[in-house]
Amino acid sequence: MALLHPSTRRLREWLETPPGAEPDAGVEEHVSHCERCADELEALDATAEVGVGETSEVRVALQEVLAPPTGLEQRMEDRIEAALLARRDLKLLAGLMGVSIETTRLLMEPPEEPRS
Ligand SMILES: [Zn+2]
Repeated sequence: MALLHPSTRRLREWLETPPGAEPDAGVEEHVSHCERCADELEALDATAEVGVGETSEVRVALQEVLAPPTGLEQRMEDRIEAALLARRDLKLLAGLMGVSIETTRLLMEPPEEPRS
């Protein structure tokens, strides 16, 4: 009776067993007759493949677009990084104050001129 399902982490480790290394025989045994874990394994495999594929495709596309003018890539990276940092700071500030980002933005706006 193999009623004890391996953890997701164990499944992932088995899935990522490098070639030449000994795979987890227990997981292999279990998955071969447990539909639930086989399904989970399939899902893990799918997400892993999509993740890797997307990353490399995006990276290749970026390199093609950004390659020719020297310095442009670095400048864009700096700008993107600065934008991300500013966003993160705003989020952090919102978190500390316990309010939404929209509210934080409103608070950071200069006060309106009093109506006459
Ligand atoms: Zn199972």
